[in-house]
Amino acid sequence: MSHRVRQPPPPFRVVEVADKEAISPRMIRVRVTGDELEGFAIEAPAASVRLLLPQGDELEIPTWQGNEFRNADGSSPIIRTLTPRRFDGDRRLLDLDIALHEGGALTPWAEECRVGDPAAVSGPGRGYTVDSGAFSYVVAGDESAIPAICQLLEWLPDVPISARVAVASDEAIVDLHRDIDERWVVEPDVDALGDRLVQSLEDVVFEGATKVWAAGEAAAMQRLRKHLFGERGVDRFNASVRGYWKAR
Ligand SMILES: Cc1cc2nc3c(=O)[nH]c(=O)nc-3n(C[C@H](O)[C@H](O)[C@H](O)COP(=O)(O)OP(=O)(O)OC[C@H]3O[C@@H](n4cnc5c(N)ncnc54)[C@H](O)[C@@H]3O)c2cc1C
Repeated sequence: MSHRVRQPPPPFRVVEVADKEAISPRMIRVRVTGDELEGFAIEAPAASVRLLLPQGDELEIPTWQGNEFRNADGSSPIIRTLTPRRFDGDRRLLDLDIALHEGGALTPWAEECRVGDPAAVSGPGRGYTVDSGAFSYVVAGDESAIPAICQLLEWLPDVPISARVAVASDEAIVDLHRDIDERWVVEPDVDALGDRLVQSLEDVVFEGATKVWAAGEAAAMQRLRKHLFGERGVDRFNASVRGYWKAR
């Protein structure tokens, strides 16, 4: 039997925490820096980076085992996917905006990390191809998608844009810095996220060339796909709907 060996991901670049700031009571921006960010570039919005976190005070760069990364002792490294929100190439500063939530590894790291703490990033992975000829845009998601949504709004052309964001608390609402049709839905029950996003889209008109970008909890995104493709006649070709995390 042949085993499929996945292509190794791009190598990790070692960085350190340069500073951090609260974007909202539910989101922390951690800015990382390092010489190894030389050549890093954000070529499209809503791309991804993999962030390798230190375990204890130590940062161990794991080895690619053909299918996954492993530490030298066989344990799994702590790697999470984030949006490269902004990169200042001159100063080699990369901004990562982390949505705070119960559990997991990212929230305690974002809250506790200090200037000089080590980490590593790999990527960026492919971002979203903006269609400058689109008739209109709809962007939607939950708190994990706020960094990508804010970034997309910096890249999207001057066409009508509707943004629908479902957040667990109104403390997560941020300024989108663009004059658009924007609506925030406060929904603490993760199982209701998809339905609430769908409801919030009721007044949005989908024309033939309306482009949709959405990301967030996987089941909520599945609900959104069903609505867009099944009930609103959106062409799959015009939509990018991604599960960013799984409720469990
Ligand atoms: C392409 C891409 C870009 C992304 N960009 C960002 C970004 O810029 N900022 C960001 O904060 N996240 C982003 N995410 C989502 C992030 O990778 C996940 O939320 C990740 O699982 C968080 O890791 P963790 O250590 O916090 O929790 P995990 O260890 O993965 O999970 C622990 C627990 O927390 C729950 N959980 C995980 N994520 C969330 C969440 N967002 N809200 C509530 N509960 C959660 C899980 O269901 C589980 O119960 C992105 C994901 C992808 C695929």
